[in-house]
Amino acid sequence: MKKTDIVVIGAGIAGLTAAIYLKRGNADFVVLENSLPGGLLNKLHKVENYPGIPNTTGSDILISLMEQVRNLGIEIKYGSVQTILKEEGGFEVVTDQDSYDAKAVIVATGRKIQGVTIKGEKEFVGRGVSYCATCDGNFFKGADVAVVGNNDIVLEESLYLANLVNKLYLCVPAEELEGTPSLLIKVKEKENIEVILNSNVEEIVGDDVGVSAIRVNGKDLPVWGVFPFVGTKSSDEFLFNLKPETDQFGVKVNEEMMSNVAGLYFAGDITSKKLKQLVTAANDGAIAATEAMKFVH
Ligand SMILES: Cc1cc2nc3c(=O)[nH]c(=O)nc-3n(C[C@H](O)[C@H](O)[C@H](O)COP(=O)(O)OP(=O)(O)OC[C@H]3O[C@@H](n4cnc5c(N)ncnc54)[C@H](O)[C@@H]3O)c2cc1C
Repeated sequence: MKKTDIVVIGAGIAGLTAAIYLKRGNADFVVLENSLPGGLLNKLHKVENYPGIPNTTGSDILISLMEQVRNLGIEIKYGSVQTILKEEGGFEVVTDQDSYDAKAVIVATGRKIQGVTIKGEKEFVGRGVSYCATCDGNFFKGADVAVVGNNDIVLEESLYLANLVNKLYLCVPAEELEGTPSLLIKVKEKENIEVILNSNVEEIVGDDVGVSAIRVNGKDLPVWGVFPFVGTKSSDEFLFNLKPETDQFGVKVNEEMMSNVAGLYFAGDITSKKLKQLVTAANDGAIAATEAMKFVH
């Protein structure tokens, strides 16, 4: 077992930002990652809303972020976290390779898409299929789009998109639209949102250029974009021992990014904040690192 003050789990933008702040604060810490450093940054084609870099890509941001990380001498260790155990004075973080004793833990493991659910969905990712209205909504200005799903995330994303697009088909795979009453009212009041209850979404249809329609209950609705929000989930399966408080958007944290488990911090998309973006993930990482350093001293 290795000893350290702080373990950061996940080397996406949230975890790497935490690492930068920890290093510059002279903290004793370890960063664990079970895949390619950068997380979602590896997958983003266009990024137009990152302050100071108006037209860029995920990989360009990642290249300069990794250079900054390397120049600071931060090492990213391979390790897939399997569980975290609470122990006297801190935590034991157990990976598939090793285990670490730490006084505080920053979890920055993001969210994952729970498998493709609609025919054509995988084929058109980045060519009309998107999982983030705030990120990609701008590409569909004035067009017709479809949103699939039935929860508060779906309602929030639909309201955001409705202000940009011409028409939005909200395909609900249930008898009733579900969500917080205030959001339901706003969605119902939006004139360009057509709610289609009992939607059986059969296929996302398109060609070489991209999405051209969504097939619902046997009928093709012409759309340029489809936002399927049926299956994303926090990457938090290793938290089964600690069970921090969550809501449908992720793990609940206070202003210091700490959960209801003392010393257990969260940053980035795994948290319950609604605006899950690069800039908010970086913000969370900076706060979590600064507060975790205070916690361990
Ligand atoms: C299609 C799409 C387009 C987007 N476009 C934009 C955009 O234009 N602008 C914008 O600001 N945002 C955009 N976003 C959102 C942005 O990508 C995310 O908010 C941000 O990347 C989240 O960073 P994160 O560090 O929280 O998580 P992630 O980037 O998901 O990183 C989590 C890391 O944790 C690792 N990990 C997971 N589980 C474990 C484990 N058990 N052990 C060890 N490591 C683990 C993962 O491998 C990963 O590297 C987009 C998102 C999507 C899906």
